[in-house]
Amino acid sequence: AKRTGGNRASFYNEIERNSWSRDRIRLEAELKNALLRDEIAIVFQPKVNCETTQVVGAEVLARWNHPERGMIAPGGFIDVAEESGLINRLGDRVLELACQQGRIWLDEGMRMPLAVNVSIRQLEKPGFDRRVLDILEHTGFPADQLQLEVTETVAMADPDRVAAVTKPLLDAGITFAIDDFGTGYSSLAILQRLPFNTFKIDRSFVWGIGEDQHSDSIVQTILAMAESLNYEVVAEGVETEEQRDFLRNNGCSTAQGFLFARPMPAAHFDAWLERHASWQPGGAAFQKPYF
Ligand code: C2E
Ligand code: MG
Ligand code: MG
Ligand code: MG
Repeated sequence: AKRTGGNRASFYNEIERNSWSRDRIRLEAELKNALLRDEIAIVFQPKVNCETTQVVGAEVLARWNHPERGMIAPGGFIDVAEESGLINRLGDRVLELACQQGRIWLDEGMRMPLAVNVSIRQLEKPGFDRRVLDILEHTGFPADQLQLEVTETVAMADPDRVAAVTKPLLDAGITFAIDDFGTGYSSLAILQRLPFNTFKIDRSFVWGIGEDQHSDSIVQTILAMAESLNYEVVAEGVETEEQRDFLRNNGCSTAQGFLFARPMPAAHFDAWLERHASWQPGGAAFQKPYF
């Protein structure tokens, strides 16, 4: 009986594996098409000053506007993009869209520094620095208003390599943030050799504020470390006023999260900014969920 069960299980596993890889292959083909058909879009999530709630910039997040399945979040395609190598074209497109919009805002008289996510696959690809500088040049977006966010684990893998790739970009005035800080394996010795000037505190710690002692302490430790290393800090995933108050009281300068706004397409972002300008603490800070 045991044997039969085992066989049956492996039979179904086999089916599952095949349909999984079929899905995977289809997704990869669709993503390739998506790039050709211009189905990649971006949304913007404001970053605000914890003290004043003034908007200090925005993070750019990729979306896939799928013809049948609607708007797909990065969780549904970034992995496939990274594994297939499509991340390079996808990343270039996201950066280009971001810089184009940033330039439009500048032309309208609004300075909006933008933070764009990049994966290590992009950083490792020869010519990345050149392509970033080309995109800045042809869109006319200023380098010193661009930040690139790199997830911690990845950034720590080979600091010398990361440092070499990022050098021309740093020289141009681009800054670098460590994304999801605290979730990877950071060694302070390595950290010190990397070109980052910003920590983004991972939302798992922010969500633990007031809920568990460890999160409170971890957040305080990151803030103290940032202070003494002279790093900037952005807390991500801020959803409650309690979290915001704790962050502010512990010296966190910048926050980002659903408490302030969800990621929005450029037109919604414009409308949100207008409302936000007259926003009073305790007032109608919550936005209609977009996606
Ligand atoms: P991330 O860079 O850490 O981005 C923050 C994620 O948290 C976003 O999810 C955002 O929508 C979400 N978020 C922000 N505030 C809150 C909040 O208060 N509550 C909750 N529950 N969530 C919040 P999203 O857009 O699904 O992106 C997920 C991840 O995908 C990003 O994490 C980033 O690592 C990756 N990603 C997004 N766009 C790109 C891209 O253009 N290139 C690359 N390589 N990765 C990207
Ligand atoms: Mg990010
Ligand atoms: Mg991330
Ligand atoms: Mg993050």
